[in-house]
Amino acid sequence: MKTFELRESKVRSYCRSFPVIFKQARGAELITADGKHYIDFLAGAGTLNYGHNHPQLKQALLDYIEGDGVTHGLDMYTAAKERFLETFARLILEPRGMADYRMQFTGPTGTNAVEAALKLARKVTGRSNVISFTNGFHGCSIGALAATGNQHHRGASGTGLADVSRMPYANYFGDKTNTIGMMDKLLSDPSSGIDKPAAVIVETVQGEGGLNVASAEWMRKLEKLCLKHGMLLIVDDIQAGCGRTGSFFSFEEMGIKPDIVTLSKSLSGYGLPFAMVLLRQELDQWQPGEHNGTFRGNNHAFVTAAAALEHFWQTDEFSGSVKAKGKRIADGMQRIIRRHGPDSLFLKGRGMMLGISCPDGEIAAAVCRQAFADGLVVETSGAHSEVVKCLCPLVISEAQIDKALNILDKAFAAVMGEQAANQAS
Ligand SMILES: *Cc1c(COP(=O)(O)O)cnc(C)c1O
Repeated sequence: MKTFELRESKVRSYCRSFPVIFKQARGAELITADGKHYIDFLAGAGTLNYGHNHPQLKQALLDYIEGDGVTHGLDMYTAAKERFLETFARLILEPRGMADYRMQFTGPTGTNAVEAALKLARKVTGRSNVISFTNGFHGCSIGALAATGNQHHRGASGTGLADVSRMPYANYFGDKTNTIGMMDKLLSDPSSGIDKPAAVIVETVQGEGGLNVASAEWMRKLEKLCLKHGMLLIVDDIQAGCGRTGSFFSFEEMGIKPDIVTLSKSLSGYGLPFAMVLLRQELDQWQPGEHNGTFRGNNHAFVTAAAALEHFWQTDEFSGSVKAKGKRIADGMQRIIRRHGPDSLFLKGRGMMLGISCPDGEIAAAVCRQAFADGLVVETSGAHSEVVKCLCPLVISEAQIDKALNILDKAFAAVMGEQAANQAS
């Protein structure tokens, strides 16, 4: 541990919650240098939907490297890229009636994709303002950070974060407030002070923002609002996409058609850096090289991403298993809630993007600490870090789910029990 404390910048973060040295990882497990096994309910913050070192993906990558496949090729045509483009179109876009989207490869992180999406929306519409939502998270480079809500991250910008109007997310004011109607009024009033936006950027489930869920109805109304006011609809599916909610895209059962979709995190399937923007064909108004980058399209990621699509998305079987496991986890969490805090704990999220909301961040942190001591890597999310967030690999086994839920049950019992005792004394 000394080396990290001595040499690595203080900006390091997740490692502070899990102060051990991990050496190996397989499926839904992380293994330390001294052989201790942990179940991984963090999974690279949603980057490891298919688990660590999935054997088929690993083999595809090993074969590619062994054959001296191109590793870096700027954005030149490579066999790996061709295969990915063809596979993504065949297995994802075409069956979903989305063959008219173009794929843009940006720099390899999520925030790169968001920057490109916002830049394109502004270029195409000639407008500069963008609507983003309370508790939304879109990345930490300046343009994406402007759209991000989190004060801790925003505060580090050191410069102005301009051209974003924040609006209340789906149920920000509870179920009774019509946030779409509110936005419509603001956008229809030339003196509201809200300039006509180029786009709205939205997550269907707010991953970092506390697993707040937008309903299909709200998303459909948002799409209508976009049409009415000439704004593009950008769905940031970086965390909720790639199967996390049960379907490949988090919005595909909602009956909407976003103008732009951002993907990253689990897109490579193997934890490799990789990001992509999907844009409706008529929006593809880029000049060659107008949005540039040395690492646009990672050939190793093209290989593993195509292998992941072929392995998991040829049939509906995987999607069905995600839904079933999501239900198993949600049921287990409901039991924990009933036992340890029926009035103070709440289930959040959808699909396999689930968490338990606690009365405050200290309680959630104490639960995560206790769980870690018992062999479960789990983190918090939310405005006050109050949600214990379970983002396990989608390939996790039922036995591992049950084991992890037992660890969580014990942790909630200890922390909520202590809480009750403190209140009584
Ligand atoms: C993680 C995330 C990003 C940013 O991705 P990075 O790779 O960390 O830059 C953007 N949007 C959403 C919804 C995310 O979850």
